Amino acid sequence: MVLAQLGGSISRALAQMSNATVIDEKVLGECLNEISRALLQSDVQFKMVRDMQTNIRKIVNLETLAAGTNKRRIIQQAVFTELCNMLDPGKPAFTPKKGKPSVVMFVGLQGSGKTTTCTKYAYYHQRKGFKPSLVCADTFRAGAFDQLKQNATKAKIPFYGSYMESDPVKIAVEGLERFRKDNSDLIIIDTSGRHKQEAALFEEMRQVAEATKPDLVIFVMDGSIGQAAFDQAQAFKQSASVGAVIITKLDGHAKGGGALSAVAATKSPVIFIGTGEHIDEFEIFDVKPFVSRLLGMGDLSGLMDKIQDVMPADQQPELLAKLAEGTFTLRLLYDQFQNLLKMGPIGQVFSMLPGFSSELMPKGHEKEGQAKIKRYMTIMDSMTAAELDSTNPKLMTESRIIRIARGSGRQIRDVMDMLEEYKRLAKMWSKMKGLKMPKNGKMSDL
Ligand code: GDP
Repeated sequence: MVLAQLGGSISRALAQMSNATVIDEKVLGECLNEISRALLQSDVQFKMVRDMQTNIRKIVNLETLAAGTNKRRIIQQAVFTELCNMLDPGKPAFTPKKGKPSVVMFVGLQGSGKTTTCTKYAYYHQRKGFKPSLVCADTFRAGAFDQLKQNATKAKIPFYGSYMESDPVKIAVEGLERFRKDNSDLIIIDTSGRHKQEAALFEEMRQVAEATKPDLVIFVMDGSIGQAAFDQAQAFKQSASVGAVIITKLDGHAKGGGALSAVAATKSPVIFIGTGEHIDEFEIFDVKPFVSRLLGMGDLSGLMDKIQDVMPADQQPELLAKLAEGTFTLRLLYDQFQNLLKMGPIGQVFSMLPGFSSELMPKGHEKEGQAKIKRYMTIMDSMTAAELDSTNPKLMTESRIIRIARGSGRQIRDVMDMLEEYKRLAKMWSKMKGLKMPKNGKMSDL
């Protein structure tokens, strides 16, 4: 992700400013111009960058800055808050509920990753216990149905489509009827992404929406389209009542700033991001960790403070070193679980650990999260030292998994579930590799 470069540019701008002996209007102005340039280069829309400058100037009080020691932090915090505000349209997207039938329609240009994303979305929910189904209402592109069929078959998700029928509305309605009868609680409709004329594409989208009355329309956007993001997102918003956005291809050279523009144009939140071609390269999108990454902060400033509060002093350097190395073994996860369980209300700490908050510890479900952690720890108790310390994912063979399940009195499914969670976290933490740790372990002086 090129986002790291943006983070670097902003950090440099802030560092330059902290070197100045007096922070006056001119120094602050230069710093904000530098940050704006970095954002523009990352494809954030011009108007948004300008508004952001104005807002930061309102937040940052030069007098306090001159006297305070944490200039860089105050401004970094202001930039952070502003970016978060940009990405948060203020109203959450519709979320499907298990057992309650919902219809979700996907729209987006051909090539954006729409069909792939439909399956990723279905697969994600299937793993959460939903009964999803896929309908291919793209009759324009030859091969669209085949692609959906292939993806769906791989993921064992029921699908519907036709090689003969050319009316997308008819297929969408038939698919809906079929899967309603089958008690599917999440019917996903993939629509066409190209037509002879743009007007025809949007008209078709409108007709499919009218006939299927979706609970949610998701706009899928290629994260690498750059400054075109705003106009494209707005065009879709005007023709379909887009309620959420998914940005794809954020694993490649995408600069990520387009996500900000898409939110601004559709006034809808980004709910997931695509980070690869594979079905599980799909992440829930959380505003704060994303902006932290965008600014190269990790969510670590809060985390480091917290580590110092709760962790025995002799363990701190080791954890910090491991974080910087990007090595995330099962043992490290176990130790973190142990520390977290000691701390009482742990939801707050979890929200600072990249990757932990939304999945493992959803807000308001801390009790269940805690029970899950205990379950994971029982499973890990049945692992050998070599398994806990390994960084090789291939080590976990079927026979080892069966042994661990037996030893811990759990189902094989539970062990797999725990390993999946570990893999997801390890991937996320590996992004912190090379992170510069402050010498005294304190982040407050950043
Ligand atoms: P559609 O025309 O919008 O339905 O797009 P497809 O689903 O056919 O995707 C177009 C291409 O983008 C395919 O080669 C996908 O494998 C690829 N793709 C989709 N999502 C992602 C992603 O998140 N990352 C990467 N690297 N490739 C993706």
